[in-house]
Amino acid sequence: MSVKFKHVDYLWDDKKASALGNDHVALFLYRSNILGADLRITNYAGGNTSCKTMEKDSLTNEEVQIMWVKESGGDIGTLDRSGIAVVYTSRLRDLKNVYGGLDDEGRMVELFNHCIYDLDSKTPSIDTPLNSLLPFAHIDHLHSDALIAVTAVSDSEKMTKEIWGETMGWIPWQSPGFDLELQLEKCLKDHPSIRGIVLGSHGLFTWGDTSHDCYINSLEVIEMASQYIEDKIKENGSVFGGQKIESFSEGERKEKAAQIMPILRGLCSSKNRMIGHFSDTEVVLEFINSNDLVQLAPMGNSCPDHFFAIRCGSDKIKVNTINPDGVIMGSKIWEGKWAEGRAKAYGITVDEMPAHYAKRNLLNEIIYPSDIADGVFSLVGILHKTTRNIINVDGEMVNAFVR
Ligand SMILES: [Zn+2]
Repeated sequence: MSVKFKHVDYLWDDKKASALGNDHVALFLYRSNILGADLRITNYAGGNTSCKTMEKDSLTNEEVQIMWVKESGGDIGTLDRSGIAVVYTSRLRDLKNVYGGLDDEGRMVELFNHCIYDLDSKTPSIDTPLNSLLPFAHIDHLHSDALIAVTAVSDSEKMTKEIWGETMGWIPWQSPGFDLELQLEKCLKDHPSIRGIVLGSHGLFTWGDTSHDCYINSLEVIEMASQYIEDKIKENGSVFGGQKIESFSEGERKEKAAQIMPILRGLCSSKNRMIGHFSDTEVVLEFINSNDLVQLAPMGNSCPDHFFAIRCGSDKIKVNTINPDGVIMGSKIWEGKWAEGRAKAYGITVDEMPAHYAKRNLLNEIIYPSDIADGVFSLVGILHKTTRNIINVDGEMVNAFVR
């Protein structure tokens, strides 16, 4: 069988799949790997995949339904049996009876461990329950480029209808967890003939009775979104506000990349050794050469530790780094339970935390997120000829003098 897709790679090899016979777990792993091989389908280490099989329960000798699902943080492109959480589906479903609402999400994650079937299982992730209440044998949860575009727009629900009509469910964004699982279940109950569910500001759920059905369904859904986007771009005549600057020749691009990549790797590898991925595909160039780049690129920052202030021009590329430390008050970690936990560990109250952290640096200053923003602004807005520099925004940490 050969299927033609324009915006995703169809990589299913009948020969390889049939060699796996009726081993549904092996087929689910095979599907996961070929989905993860195309980065347009999901980002590295993003999304998850699962399958459900009937297995003999060694405690009762009865046939029970078991769910095999990617562990937290793993990459589906390289997923193998050692990276799977293996849980009783019925036990996960029974957690509905003890779920105490949104404030109870933390306790639920601990309870997932009580649903483990196989002692070789990896720890179930917060995404695990998202697969359990949907009845399908094979499920993909993917963060495809095209789907992220559809989910990130303000009228995402309307756009979802325009692309897939009544065949696609849509639910607004909320954090992964047990309540989101209930929303998925309700969405399917209200719209039993849908082929998938779009999660606002997040990604996609698709499914199938077999691994191949699921694969085809995921690819078709992503293809439809990609085609819709391509048509809209044609209709509008341009994307990202149109082209502003000309690209270097391919040879020059490679030469510049070869100069920059060791620097980027060095900056990224202070804790873990990293390798980089260079892409100068047409869509990448369309973005970095565009009028809207300056406005859009800074919005892409999502890493809390290091903000790269990157500026590209027709003949200049600047790479600078802001290196913050001890930023707690006003940051995202301050909002969660983290502050409480740390305060307890230090034997102080949450209110005393900022002063406690200020004492750790030589200037005895509390570091706020706005201090990081000042650093970024100085690099992007003032220091036009500064490149390959790191600005520490940490009030001077003694144990970080080597930076
Ligand atoms: Zn996700």
